[in-house]
Amino acid sequence: MTVPTIALNDGTSIPQLGFGVFQVPPEETAATVSTALEVGYRHIDTAEMYQNEAGVGEAIRASGLARDDLYVTSKLNNGFHEPDAARRAFDETMDKLGIDQLDLFLIHWPLPTLYDGDYVSTWRVLAELKEQGRVRSVGVSNFEPAHLDRIVEETGVVPVVNQIEVHPFFTNEDARKGSHRHDVVVEAWSPIAKGKVVDDPTIREIAEAHGKTPSQVTLRWHVERGDIVFPKSMKRERMEENFAIFDFSLTEDEVARIGGLDRGEEGRTGPNPNTFDYVPD
Ligand code: NDP
Repeated sequence: MTVPTIALNDGTSIPQLGFGVFQVPPEETAATVSTALEVGYRHIDTAEMYQNEAGVGEAIRASGLARDDLYVTSKLNNGFHEPDAARRAFDETMDKLGIDQLDLFLIHWPLPTLYDGDYVSTWRVLAELKEQGRVRSVGVSNFEPAHLDRIVEETGVVPVVNQIEVHPFFTNEDARKGSHRHDVVVEAWSPIAKGKVVDDPTIREIAEAHGKTPSQVTLRWHVERGDIVFPKSMKRERMEENFAIFDFSLTEDEVARIGGLDRGEEGRTGPNPNTFDYVPD
């Protein structure tokens, strides 16, 4: 199964399907990521706040894969938005991953109610890390259209991606459009709504018509809309299932029917970026 790549606005490219490690326990991360790499995933999405970057690094080293064959993303901890803290946090990420250059580093949350609402200075640090060649690409996560407009206007540096919650029950079209306006590619987090898509009758019906599973048709729906996905699973069979989405396609009508399951704000599984202010201890 060949995973397509998506061209980013800085001339680099990213595998459209990856493996996410949110809520993978630190002590199980190396083994879990090793299994994902065996299955064929070549794009890993981690974050400082997941506390499992070291396990990701361990799996990368153990895989024997060439560094160029892997795409690694991490994200800045909410507690380190001040510029010097952000620089130190990035150094720690690199130490834990044990690699020389990161592919993609993101501001995890904009935190507009903290740090005097100044996520622009934080963004400038990411731009500086890219200038220094320590990271190939920089992007953001959970940025609402106004947040994105502001960093682009004030710095002239355009993120390559915006990683936001998107799945059939929360299609988040405003934030998707706000990203596309700047030629920013959307990464859809919780792409299978944390597993909830398996119980949806419409998705089940479409899955049966294709001889596929609800998770597979949902991931295929994202891919056909041009978004990047990295479903998480602790189980090899599900990793394999979620990887096998490039041998069929949905009709326009099916894409529309899945999009029609949107419940607006009620469909969110995670916090609202405008008010989210969690900072780890
Ligand atoms: P997902 O939508 O990927 O769902 C993961 C859940 O679904 C797990 O409970 C998993 O259970 C289950 N699951 C996986 N595959 C299947 C399947 N084929 N059939 C049925 N159930 C399945 O949710 P996540 O929240 O993990 O999102 C994915 C990734 O997105 C994260 O790992 C992280 O990288 C990123 N993310 C980013 C955020 C951000 O703020 N930037 C926020 C949240 C996520 P099991 O493990 O037992 O298989």
